Amino acid sequence: MKILNDLHKCSRCLVYKDKSLFYRSSDRECGVRSPCRDCRINKTPRPSLMQLFLSKFRKEPSGCWVWLGSLNNRKYGKIKFLGRCISSHRLSWELHNNKIIPHGMCVLHRCDNPPCVNPDHLFLGTNSENSKDMTNKNRQAKGIRNGQSVLTEDAVLEIRRRSNESSRSLGLEFNVSKTTILNIINRKRWRHIP
Ligand SMILES: [Zn+2]
Ligand SMILES: [Zn+2]
Repeated sequence: MKILNDLHKCSRCLVYKDKSLFYRSSDRECGVRSPCRDCRINKTPRPSLMQLFLSKFRKEPSGCWVWLGSLNNRKYGKIKFLGRCISSHRLSWELHNNKIIPHGMCVLHRCDNPPCVNPDHLFLGTNSENSKDMTNKNRQAKGIRNGQSVLTEDAVLEIRRRSNESSRSLGLEFNVSKTTILNIINRKRWRHIP
């Protein structure tokens, strides 16, 4: 049996295939992202967002669809598409309901399983319902310290709660500029959040 290290996921057909089926594996770093030989010859188009989404979770006996891509520090899945980082449970809601999440609304989990992207386990809620939900479930965010500069709605609420602290240190903690922090506190940005 092949071990996973010998396999690469093709960026077009999204199938795990043997390393040798990828060109340039010697001169490029593994060639992980390159299309496989078949896709290169057949000029397979890039997968759609739906195809990418469908290739990235595992259905668990519990009914949850557990995200296999990367997770943020609060265990929500994320996916990169055309250079943008998208939250996978929010994406799932939009793809399956075929509409955009209304401005300022959150997608919440009935199953309390953040990496789950099963649309049947997701529902829309307001920000305050979201924070209440999280406090009840006792897993409130303790500040977002990872390398991403995209702020979540919870981070914005936390920044506003802590507006008496130095904007420079908040900026360092949340990985955004001091100006962004000031704009959030003065409600020049994220105005839809109370
Ligand atoms: Zn392929
Ligand atoms: Zn679930």
